[in-house]
Amino acid sequence: SILGEYLPDFPIAEPKMVARLNANENPYGPAPQVIKAIAEAAASGNRYAHGDANTLISMIAEKEGVTPDHIMLGPGSTDLLEKVAITRFQHGGNIIAADPSYMSLINTAQSMGGTWKPVPLTDDYAHDLPAMESAIDSETKLIYVCNPNNPTGSITHAADLKKFCASASEKTPIFVDEAYLEFLDDAASQSMVGLVAEGKDVIVARTFSKIHGMAGLRIGYIVATPERIESITSMVRSTMGLCSTSLKGAIASMKETQFMGECRGYNSECREFTRNAIASLGYDIIPSYTSFMIFPIEMNGKEFLKAMYDSGVGIRVFDINNKDWCRVSMGTKSEMEIFVETFKKVTA
Ligand code: PLP
Repeated sequence: SILGEYLPDFPIAEPKMVARLNANENPYGPAPQVIKAIAEAAASGNRYAHGDANTLISMIAEKEGVTPDHIMLGPGSTDLLEKVAITRFQHGGNIIAADPSYMSLINTAQSMGGTWKPVPLTDDYAHDLPAMESAIDSETKLIYVCNPNNPTGSITHAADLKKFCASASEKTPIFVDEAYLEFLDDAASQSMVGLVAEGKDVIVARTFSKIHGMAGLRIGYIVATPERIESITSMVRSTMGLCSTSLKGAIASMKETQFMGECRGYNSECREFTRNAIASLGYDIIPSYTSFMIFPIEMNGKEFLKAMYDSGVGIRVFDINNKDWCRVSMGTKSEMEIFVETFKKVTA
């Protein structure tokens, strides 16, 4: 992999952090109605939550234009990334995925004995779809596409991706991770979920962790053909890992379209502010379509990470192509102002 990361080798005092910009969390959520629903749900915690799971599945199915047997829930999309990897790679095989990309599913596939065939992103940080299609061979068990991509924040053109998915899914299932999709102004038209409704072997993952502001509450889902869902749920259970509070919260959150619209708006304002501030210092930022952005820094990555945390600002530092990069999540406007001021001080 060309992607590496400097992890903090010092204790992190979360309560002392003045800007927590390291984990692509939504600083505004959950919505007030969601908090209320969760508080009320606590009292029914003696019961298993299968009924709530079915309610949420029905709501998601309606939103996505499919029947409920196309939906599988998990405690966060991580659970589903891992379950797909566990069930697909138990007998080895290879996974085709971009480099750099989000490593969760790829790492689990490799742990199961699978081989990763990395395909570098194009010069404008899109997935190199022709190269990914050419990489398919008789051992390929899955293609993973993260769109928009993490940690680059970049996007792959929806029309190109649709064409690719329609064609390549004839040969192997395609997992499209849409964790950040809802930060786009035209999310519905950029989603690959329509291909699932057409019967294509595409698995679309979504999460309540980002635009819904529920990262700590752990709810995510995949949309795939009933046969593909069945191939997973025949081996591992779906709703047994979910808790009624989070499910009731997610059910309430499905109705919070105004809240999500506000989050989307604040996110793009903060992105604009941060991009301008950092670009005016001479840095080259990859255009972001997500709730974070990444840019190469001049300072030593490990020292930069330590200095930012010492000032109470949490960020991530990646090593891509032997260069050190700062990835910063969008917090509130005042957190972004702190980030910019701290960045200036640390790199001065
Ligand atoms: N997919 C991508 C691309 C992510 O960036 C993340 C989290 O940052 C996840 C999936 C997992 O999120 P969760 O397990 O909270 O749904």
